[in-house]
Amino acid sequence: MKNLKLTGVKEDGLRTVVEISGLKLGQDFVVIAGPCAVESEDQLMRTAVAVKEAGATMLRGGAFKPRTSPYAFQGLGLKGLKILDKARRETGLPIVTEVIDTRDVSWVGEYADILQIGARNMQNYSLLREAGKSGRPVLLKRGMYSTLEEWLNCAEYILAEGNPGIILCERGIRSFETFTRNTLDLNIVPAVKGLSHLPIFVDPSHGTGVLRLIEPMSMAAVAAGADGLEVEVHIDPSSALSDKDQQLSPLAFARLMRKVSALRDALAAIEADEANRGEAREAIAAVMDGKDKGEWA
Ligand code: PEP
Ligand code: MN
Repeated sequence: MKNLKLTGVKEDGLRTVVEISGLKLGQDFVVIAGPCAVESEDQLMRTAVAVKEAGATMLRGGAFKPRTSPYAFQGLGLKGLKILDKARRETGLPIVTEVIDTRDVSWVGEYADILQIGARNMQNYSLLREAGKSGRPVLLKRGMYSTLEEWLNCAEYILAEGNPGIILCERGIRSFETFTRNTLDLNIVPAVKGLSHLPIFVDPSHGTGVLRLIEPMSMAAVAAGADGLEVEVHIDPSSALSDKDQQLSPLAFARLMRKVSALRDALAAIEADEANRGEAREAIAAVMDGKDKGEWA
């Protein structure tokens, strides 16, 4: 891929780690959870407490919602951001929230620990530049019709403004399949790891849009090597004002977290075993090398 001057893998192999309130995104496995939209103080606070209890380490919630219909709930705006701020103070969870307008970047950045740029705005170059200038970490979602090259070039826009804090997030692409809301492209996880130093997260909620697929696809994302997940959770999904069909209940989210944690432990054990085998192979090779040179004669 051409011209990925800042986004491409580094010569020294170092990967980007984005530090937020003691969390190290790209190094620690991080789960961002919370409702699609902030709907009320009660809804957000109860959801925040529940996701924290289940093990999430960041809270999400949209105050500005890019909706297909102009008549659908558009988010609470500033009121929503103030509620998110309160949730951060009460739970200690840092906040991820979407910004959809260049004019809002600087003041939304005062409330957000991470600015989310959504799929529909991935190639909004003015927004990317503005987010780059803000210096706030950015969660850049993949556009629903975007290739990997186009996506990485959008990250390049943010980096080119001097902002190194970018986290990529795969959220599914449009395909001919209509059973799922989108087709979650998990190929992209190891592909990104080979091409870029940026952390890569997966959003199985928008990626599937089907409740019962969210847990298995979260596990699949972990197995593919994702650095974290972004999952929609609502205290009472049936009353949600947006994305009603894909928000997990706190109970279902807690189960997902237990399974993800067990899978991560199992994968870590496999990695440790592989590393030991590698060391053993090297030790045997060193001994054989000495033998060839007559040291054993
Ligand atoms: C969201 O995370 O709330 C959202 C709108 O996601 P996307 O931009 O991936 O559709
Ligand atoms: Mn949503």
